[in-house]
Amino acid sequence: MEKISICWLRRDLRLHDQAALYHALRGTYPVLVFFIFDREILDDLEDRRDRRVEFIYEQILSLDKKLQKHKSGLLVKYGSALPVWKEVLKEYDIAEVYTNNDYEQYALERDKAVADLLATKQIPLHSFKDQVIFEKDEVLSKAGKPYSVFTPYSKAWKTKVNDFYVKSYPTEKYFKNFFKAKLPAIPSLQEMNFEAVGEPFPSSEINEELIKDYDKTRDFPNLEGTSRMSIHLRFGTVSIRELVRVAQKLNATYLNELMWRDFYFQVLYHFPHINSGHAFRPEYDRIQWRNDEKDFEAWCEGQTGYPIVDAGMRQMNATGFMHNRVRMITASFLAKHLLIDWRWGEAYFAKKLLDYDFSANNGGWQWAAGSGCDASPYFRVFNPALQAKKFDAKQEYVRHWIPEVSEAHYPDPIVEHETARERAITTYRKAVKKK
Ligand code: FAD
Repeated sequence: MEKISICWLRRDLRLHDQAALYHALRGTYPVLVFFIFDREILDDLEDRRDRRVEFIYEQILSLDKKLQKHKSGLLVKYGSALPVWKEVLKEYDIAEVYTNNDYEQYALERDKAVADLLATKQIPLHSFKDQVIFEKDEVLSKAGKPYSVFTPYSKAWKTKVNDFYVKSYPTEKYFKNFFKAKLPAIPSLQEMNFEAVGEPFPSSEINEELIKDYDKTRDFPNLEGTSRMSIHLRFGTVSIRELVRVAQKLNATYLNELMWRDFYFQVLYHFPHINSGHAFRPEYDRIQWRNDEKDFEAWCEGQTGYPIVDAGMRQMNATGFMHNRVRMITASFLAKHLLIDWRWGEAYFAKKLLDYDFSANNGGWQWAAGSGCDASPYFRVFNPALQAKKFDAKQEYVRHWIPEVSEAHYPDPIVEHETARERAITTYRKAVKKK
């Protein structure tokens, strides 16, 4: 049997500008590219028409096609990571494994188990930074401490960044080094018990025209004014380095948003207590939530009687996307107006968002709930009506998602704004001020 290297893909589903693939292709052995449809993740998904699985599946087929042009292909297996790896070890003579760092709790545990298994056969697992510009300890304060406030972090980020960190990995130069073989058929979605919906996903083309004007358009949910790159960043179908180079050239505000993404990744790395459902600031775990199930249901279904909140929730329920401004409004409304534990909302977003990513979602929720690093202070409560007036003045967004907004059967507000605001401040103050 020929000795090979394996490049194990996870949330880096592309062949261009890909760190692990670059290093694998430059190594000693022909490279087989490998992907696992991981049952530990898939079995937990409630919806058999989950479009994220469909998105991954489409990318897998497209990668396989591209690899076939080089007389190779994508090896795809369905199962839990460890037993699948045991199988692959029997089927191939593997010298080395290459992969990219993955920072979420489950991924860390999975990678440790696989590294341990490979070590029993003296096979090294080489892992690289790929999905962020800076990771782990790369951006620290002068005192050597991790940042928990965004502005100084972003300053340090900008000081540190240079061409080295944003240059592409020229994988194409080494494409002749793929392992040439006929590979088994890729399992179908049906075999994995999923179904395709068949609706298109946002394009992975970087839209430079849009990014140029991003600072002017990004806050208005009725416009197509944001880049829609989030699903591609989530699954690695675009390269963060390429996107950062475009942002550096065209729009500082856009670059700022990409830095927020890095920021939340490093928060997850340095403050792992947020992984186990804890507030970043422990005193916020003392809040006496109301947790009214009926209110929660109304929020989930977009029936709170607050049009901007309901429009956002309906947009997400229908499409798997919600505009950032509206994510902030709906999240704040749940945690403050309704006094429902932000973790309920975090879990609901995790189910629905195509771009769901633990670090950005947790960061966004804790920001809105006031419990996070760099969060808005607890006594600042978004006024949904004022937000709507400012960012959807002509009600275009609201009317698109709630055609019946002016009709009698559209519900009355489930809470009155001023009463809810005072209730939130009193409840939060009690928790935060307690010694
Ligand atoms: P653009 O506005 O075009 O921004 C470009 C990219 O910058 C985004 O694709 C994203 O990768 C990054 N980015 C932008 N804003 C943020 C931010 N505040 N934090 C971190 N990264 C950011 N983003 C996710 O990718 N996954 C999530 O699960 C997620 N959950 C969120 C939950 C809440 C409560 C809030 C307030 C925000 C959340 N965000 C999340 C951040 C943000 O809303 C989305 O990244 C953005 O709406 C995606 O659309 P876009 O690609 O058009 O973004």
